[in-house]
Amino acid sequence: MNTSLTGTTALVTGASGGIGAATALSLAAQGASIGLVARRKDRLDDIAEQIRAIGGTALVIAADITDQTQAAAAVEQTVQTFGSLDIVVNNAGIMLLGPAESAPVEEWDRMLAINVQGLLYITHAALPHLLAAADGERGTADIINVSSLAGRVPIAGSAVYSLTKTGINAFTEALRQEVAGRHVRVSLIEPGPVATELFTHIRPEILEASQEAFANATLLHAEDIADTITYVVTRPARVVMSEILVRPDGSQ
Ligand code: NDP
Repeated sequence: MNTSLTGTTALVTGASGGIGAATALSLAAQGASIGLVARRKDRLDDIAEQIRAIGGTALVIAADITDQTQAAAAVEQTVQTFGSLDIVVNNAGIMLLGPAESAPVEEWDRMLAINVQGLLYITHAALPHLLAAADGERGTADIINVSSLAGRVPIAGSAVYSLTKTGINAFTEALRQEVAGRHVRVSLIEPGPVATELFTHIRPEILEASQEAFANATLLHAEDIADTITYVVTRPARVVMSEILVRPDGSQ
């Protein structure tokens, strides 16, 4: 296989399903070696098998990225195995919806820990490696942060989820400015609703109450977001796609 990402290494968080798994497969199809990070090892083993079946290379790293030590170790293991780190896809996340008034505070803690702290820990550990890679032959390195339409358009019931995603938006833009002169591209991807397991963590009573809103909605496929991410990281080094909002057809 000799394609546009041949010789590069990508680390994808939340690679055990949904958008992360589709992205890992898509980047692997372009020739990147992939560090697959999530907690469920059996699911990662399955994705790694699928990557090998198309001639790609993958490393399974079972880790909880809300633990700083595990997040940093996942980055180091990827670099030690493949020799460099060119692309980080900060994708792992959870969406727990419902009115703030009656929300279990534990749900807020989980969203802040995964969506925000996990992303920060991975990014902090990865940055020195990405800066080093950007000095190399490819002339660039990439951080892709997966935010959400909810980070642009907060709605009732998504207060804390939107807070985490709006925070990611702010961090992404500030970091982009910090490393722009050193050829690390920092990009924000904001998907609208995508058919994945993300909705399965919402409390049943909340999900039931919102069924009507979802019933006739067109959902994106995980592959649509994977395609977008792959497009962003395969642009020439001079091109920085700093922000992309992906809505399904029919979305207001
Ligand atoms: P999924 O629920 O399918 O995937 C979430 C992934 O995150 C899983 O691989 C899960 O793996 C991983 N993850 C969760 N907690 C941790 C943790 N503590 N440590 C490591 N990995 C973890 O959802 P999606 O694919 O839909 O979501 C991916 C991203 O896209 C999220 O950031 C989400 O907010 C965002 N997004 C999704 C939209 C949608 O409609 N689906 C819309 C907009 C944005 P495991 O459980 O094995 O650890």
